[in-house]
Amino acid sequence: MTEFLTDIEIANSIEMEPIVDVAERAGLKADDLELYGKYKAKISLDAIHELDKKEDGKLVLVTAITPTPAGEGKSTVSIGLSQGLNKMGKNSVVALREPSLGPVFGVKGGAAGGGYSQVVPMEDINLHFTGDLHAMTAANNLLSALIDNHIHQGNALRIDARNITWKRVIDMNDRSIRNIVIGMGGKACGFTREDHFMITVASEIMAALCLASGLTDLKERLARMIVAYNLDGEPVTAGQLEAQGAMAMLLKDAIKPNIVQTLEHTPALIHGGPFANIAHGCNSLIATKLGLKLSDYLVTEAGFGADLGAEKFFDIKCRLGNLKPDAVVIVATIKALKMHGGVDKKNLKEENVEALEAGFANLGRHIENVKKFGLPVVVAVNKFAFDTEAEVNKLIEKCAEYGVEVSLSDGWAKGGEGTLDLAEKVVRACEQENNFHYLYDVEASIPEKLNTIVKEIYRGAKVTLTAAAKKQVKKLEELGLDKMPICMAKTQFSFSDDKNAVNAPEGFEITVQNVRVSAGAGFIVCETGDIMVMPGLPKVPAANKMDVDENGKMEGLF
Ligand code: ADP
Repeated sequence: MTEFLTDIEIANSIEMEPIVDVAERAGLKADDLELYGKYKAKISLDAIHELDKKEDGKLVLVTAITPTPAGEGKSTVSIGLSQGLNKMGKNSVVALREPSLGPVFGVKGGAAGGGYSQVVPMEDINLHFTGDLHAMTAANNLLSALIDNHIHQGNALRIDARNITWKRVIDMNDRSIRNIVIGMGGKACGFTREDHFMITVASEIMAALCLASGLTDLKERLARMIVAYNLDGEPVTAGQLEAQGAMAMLLKDAIKPNIVQTLEHTPALIHGGPFANIAHGCNSLIATKLGLKLSDYLVTEAGFGADLGAEKFFDIKCRLGNLKPDAVVIVATIKALKMHGGVDKKNLKEENVEALEAGFANLGRHIENVKKFGLPVVVAVNKFAFDTEAEVNKLIEKCAEYGVEVSLSDGWAKGGEGTLDLAEKVVRACEQENNFHYLYDVEASIPEKLNTIVKEIYRGAKVTLTAAAKKQVKKLEELGLDKMPICMAKTQFSFSDDKNAVNAPEGFEITVQNVRVSAGAGFIVCETGDIMVMPGLPKVPAANKMDVDENGKMEGLF
């Protein structure tokens, strides 16, 4: 068997170009950049405003089939595709999310692509990068401190300590602090109450920052966030606690997009990173809009499968940001389709054309779903070394039967050279007239919107709201906060809310357990199944294999 270099070995074998040079090729001057060393920079908001009048390039969304826990390669394909577009002479920028330390040290590993389709410096991007996630953690926890201090100092807003919805955050997988008791130690230490930790990427601050148009808009969003209810059951906002100014101050740099490079020295914007199963799952609107100004083809990614990431990209991000996508790439892997076709996760490397054919139903449904938004689709088969010719041929044949463009994408092994065919097909798809539209009317009631998503996208028979969820809907209706897009919180491993129901299940019921408003982000979160806002670490965390030597050289990052 061929020995492959690890991602970090490949990344270290390639000499990076100064980021000033990479940015200059994208049309940015040195003055537009705020350098974080030689290879990373933030782009000033002034520079972004100056580009306002420039025409937008094409917007290409990369999404995927229902994934295995390791991910099917959306980031890898996005980076590879952008490299391929540049190689064919097009001007392309890739815009991705910032990795969270939770998955880095847990199961999934980093999120800077893989093989010869990576963004670099990958160690920095995967670890502290430019400090955005730490700034969000600080802003989130400042608000927590202000809430508890307000109660301690006399509680003029009459906050009901039993009904505080704002949680503390840390950017780590740590199940032991999901539920905690704070304020112990007597009078001097505040009031004792139950509190909770979430992972930073689940914070409403992350979602609000990713949808904000600038610092003033961000401040208004922060002020609108509901943090608790008072003893009369009325909402208490961050604005009432006068928290938004200081929080925005902590976020004044985090709101600026970061620019780095791909392994082929093409520009990459990495900014913001809300999870896709509990939040809306795309990079920041500011970075996406900037990328559209800087390129002819902006390639961006939305988390997990198309049922979660793409639906929210269209119905939340495009709607709130007034974006109009031009084409959609659905990433499929033969291994995941075989899993959907019934193969045990341990045996996915063995040839099994029959299972692949059975698992195609999952890809087929995602294709139909994306077409419901009126957009052209190209399937990218992310090639793995153990895929056999018979399997690849079968998948191409099935896509042809389905009438959808398909391309074997080999960016992982070959960089942009391996995605030239995909790039050509994407360019062609972008030339097609499209009829992009949202899935539902935002003015519809919450149950109506839920029904549309569950029936049209998940293909469930019915959506049921628990008694608690019904009460929460009623409350939001009374407060006039129900006319916003829905952000579904659902397992990424199934169309249904049962993570074990793989492939293309039908006739199931979806139960919505909790409905809460993210008034600052501008959407309503509907939680199904047992969604974790604070993940735990696995039995053998990826962290156990990581090390750094005396000279700062790292290994085991991936
Ligand atoms: P996603 O964005 O869908 O979560 P990633 O692009 O992060 O997926 O890829 C997940 C992991 O799989 C990464 O570690 C990446 O290096 C690896 N990977 C992706 N594509 C391939 C491939 N074609 N061959 C081998 N490994 C791959």
